[in-house]
Amino acid sequence: MLIDTFGRTIDYLRVSVTKQCNFRCQYCMPHTPKDFVDKSALPLPQMLEFIKIAIDNGIKKIRITGGEPLLRPDLSEFIGGIFTYKKDIEITLTTNAFFLYKYAASLKDAGLSRINISLDSLKPQRIKEISQCDALPQILKGIDEAHRVGLGIKINMVPLLGINDDEIIDILEFGKQNGYLVRFIEFMENTHANAAIKGLSSKDILRIIATKYSFELLQKEHFGPAKIYALSQNAPHTQKAYAFGIISPHEDDFCQSCNRIRLTSDGVICPCLYYQESVSLKEAILANDTAQMQKLLEIAIKNKPEKNQWDTNMVESKHSARAFYYTGG
Ligand code: SAM
Ligand code: SF4
Repeated sequence: MLIDTFGRTIDYLRVSVTKQCNFRCQYCMPHTPKDFVDKSALPLPQMLEFIKIAIDNGIKKIRITGGEPLLRPDLSEFIGGIFTYKKDIEITLTTNAFFLYKYAASLKDAGLSRINISLDSLKPQRIKEISQCDALPQILKGIDEAHRVGLGIKINMVPLLGINDDEIIDILEFGKQNGYLVRFIEFMENTHANAAIKGLSSKDILRIIATKYSFELLQKEHFGPAKIYALSQNAPHTQKAYAFGIISPHEDDFCQSCNRIRLTSDGVICPCLYYQESVSLKEAILANDTAQMQKLLEIAIKNKPEKNQWDTNMVESKHSARAFYYTGG
């Protein structure tokens, strides 16, 4: 078992498989050249060998993220390799869904259980403005296909002031109609984002939802960052009320119950999203040096800080330097 210095059991690994992306979202990597190629990404079969070690040490849940993970053509084989190694590992994926229509069936067959899909608007022109890619029809096709093959679906929306904040209820209703959990994520300021954009706070988001629906706070996601709310309007007692989530890093302190570490596509373990220190396993992974991978994993766990440095990081510049497309969010 991986237990850090503060007694927290670490059983959740987020793996970013590439920094590359076919979108250029305003809140993530709007200024990265379109032809950027992630040359430092490690081969997935070699990353798999580290993941097996992490599983042997007690990792029970793995989320694949990026950049855009579906840009890795052998992603289904990678997921299949994790699933074959240990069938009761929960494997999930975060994607912009652009290529999902192609891969949903093979991902499901490989052992993927759930997908989180970024969907910031239901208007084609808006998606184009936010992501710099004319992507909505293909995103919706991907969501339909994932649903058809039986993958569990969550929708992530980052509400942005004056850009898509008038669609908060539309996205909520899209989730409600289709039975997908919608999670609104507060925009997290970082130096890579478009400096002109502003996010909505969780209070603003709840205020907008309250103009049409009444709701109550259900719970905080078990070992997850979201607060879950249930709509109470028109929900007969016999029916389960529709629930949505809000991730509010500006307000909530996730550190006490944090159970996760992150592995980047170039083989670096980040013990905390908002903490600069990290441990590189690149050489050990490339050499398939299992003893060294084990040692470095233990060091990374030992180095996991008690609290993130969100406040100290943000104090001077009000912006974090960590890129979401590097850490995977
Ligand atoms: N490309 C995939 C996608 O967009 O779903 C996976 C990687 S993306 C970095 C993972 C998540 O981070 C997405 O849900 C995205 O909305 C979120 N994200 C990226 N930049 C963010 C920011 N500045 N603030 C809040 N969430 C952000
Ligand atoms: Fe790409 Fe995801 Fe970042 Fe958008 S949020 S640019 S889809 S990595």
